[in-house]
Amino acid sequence: MNPEKLINPLIIYWDINPDQSEDDIVLRICGELVDTGVFILDLKDMSQQQGGVTEKILKRLSKEQIKIILTSDSTFLRMPVEVLKGPQLFIEFDSVERFRTGLDDVLDQIRKGHAAGVSFGLNSRNFLELPGFISLCIDNKIENVSIPIQRAYDSEVFYPDPDEASGLSEALDKLDLEHLNLSIHDPFLWKMFYKKENPNEDGCNAAKTMMYISKDFEVTPCPIMPISIGNLRETSLKEIFSSMMRQEVRDKLLLEPDECGACSLLDKCKGGCRGRTYVISGSLNKRDPACLSPQTK
Ligand code: SF4
Repeated sequence: MNPEKLINPLIIYWDINPDQSEDDIVLRICGELVDTGVFILDLKDMSQQQGGVTEKILKRLSKEQIKIILTSDSTFLRMPVEVLKGPQLFIEFDSVERFRTGLDDVLDQIRKGHAAGVSFGLNSRNFLELPGFISLCIDNKIENVSIPIQRAYDSEVFYPDPDEASGLSEALDKLDLEHLNLSIHDPFLWKMFYKKENPNEDGCNAAKTMMYISKDFEVTPCPIMPISIGNLRETSLKEIFSSMMRQEVRDKLLLEPDECGACSLLDKCKGGCRGRTYVISGSLNKRDPACLSPQTK
């Protein structure tokens, strides 16, 4: 196996801590995102605060060539309209009940062009509500729906057991997904929706095209993979991008897990979600626990 020659990541996920008052670090990171040519900044701020860190980031980057996606609670819509013009805003809900309550507001904001769509952050308590959430989107012609990457730092990492996965898959089967623009990162969840392998699947991109900044400025390969490559309080984003640590993590992710054995899907799947595997098993040399393939060792 030859090591990959790494270039700067194309997409950075950044979760905002509303209590952060370290403006100098935040603004320095913004400058480095621009200098290093990052294409997409995917921000998440569920703080329900206005005028805070996120607003400063949006203002700082408003004239730069960087696409910004912001996932937040609907209270963000009270931010100054000029700040909201730039980012693609996804309004996040964690239950169908909350989505129903906020639906009129969401539809109104989509009509006005302030919101792009909705997001459903999955966890072990709400994943069975996923078909109901999607169904409500279809009924109300909400096309852009995001199912974000689970966060290892501040929530449990979960996956459905085989019975739950099969029930979920059956319920999703009844939905007409044709007009939905779905963003799904989990390879096995993608398969539950579309009943086939993702033709664009090409293994894990953690520490390669994507990296993550946690609420404490810890930089990790992906939101679900809690392996620290450096902290932005002590080190710069540029140094982290060109670090040996990043290269070492990538080299490990290129190794196919022994447990995948002679699986016929290995070429594309490459072991599934490596972050979930790492959180649950403590090893990168295992197959994804969400995998239901019988072809494993
Ligand atoms: S065994 Fe499962 S995780 Fe491993 S390559 Fe095959 S489908 Fe992917």
